[in-house]
Amino acid sequence: MFPIHRFVSESAAADLLEQVRWRNGVECPRCRSDRTVRNGSYRVYQRYLCKNCGRTFNDKTGTIFAHSKLKLKEWYFTIYTFIRFNTSIRQIEAELDLSYRTLRERVEQFARTLNAPSITLTGPVEIDEVYVSAGLKGRERDQEPRSRGLATRGRGSYAGDKPPVFTLVDRGTNNRYVIPAKSADESTVRLLLDNHEQESLTVYTDGFRAYEPLDDDTFDRQYVVHSDGEYADEEVHINTCESHGSLLRPWLSPHRGISKDKLTPYLRAFQLRRELYRKPGDEALKQAIDAAL
Ligand SMILES: [Zn+2]
Repeated sequence: MFPIHRFVSESAAADLLEQVRWRNGVECPRCRSDRTVRNGSYRVYQRYLCKNCGRTFNDKTGTIFAHSKLKLKEWYFTIYTFIRFNTSIRQIEAELDLSYRTLRERVEQFARTLNAPSITLTGPVEIDEVYVSAGLKGRERDQEPRSRGLATRGRGSYAGDKPPVFTLVDRGTNNRYVIPAKSADESTVRLLLDNHEQESLTVYTDGFRAYEPLDDDTFDRQYVVHSDGEYADEEVHINTCESHGSLLRPWLSPHRGISKDKLTPYLRAFQLRRELYRKPGDEALKQAIDAAL
């Protein structure tokens, strides 16, 4: 259910942060000591005194929520609508009395705190790439518009403002990963598949040449060739990858003009979105806050 009370009352928002942040007990953000006592409040936020270093701190100290133009409830609303509903920052601006620039910076600050996924593969693994449009925002406008009519067909490139994004589906664990890369070449692919438990990892790919060298001792590569009209041969397919990858463009689309150097945080947010997808609202909000701490 939509956790509406957390977006309306600042003290309800503060209670939630206290719950999530100190789940394993209160710890001083400066010296990491757990010798702390409650010590009044700072506005609606609980304040603490560290008996080890003698400093005081509150629930927001040392997090992205501290010293912010946004109230905690506004942070929550922003994060929640961004992650859950794929809301554009322009739309959030219309709902809150805050500037577009402030909101965009806060959303990106939140996304940058999200951890990189750590990939450990069990296999079999599907791997595929998609190419998304992401230029160099700002600098791009100084140039002459590019001729669209002469666009070459085929795969994109980082330099051509169409960076590759790899999608991996580990059928062993059902984990999915979405990782942007500078180029779609063999060494990138090897790096992505590097961390696996089995001696020989089964990898399903399409006929793209970057995957061809994967036929060696480390990998058992099996592939489908789409140009031959082949999409699945029993278990050999990359359909899960493709359906996951197809969600990427709709995810990025409300945020038109993401520069390629900001693609990583937006894709981590996409990963978080998927992890929270079917969770009840209050639980999803808690996990999103936790991910930003
Ligand atoms: Zn301390």
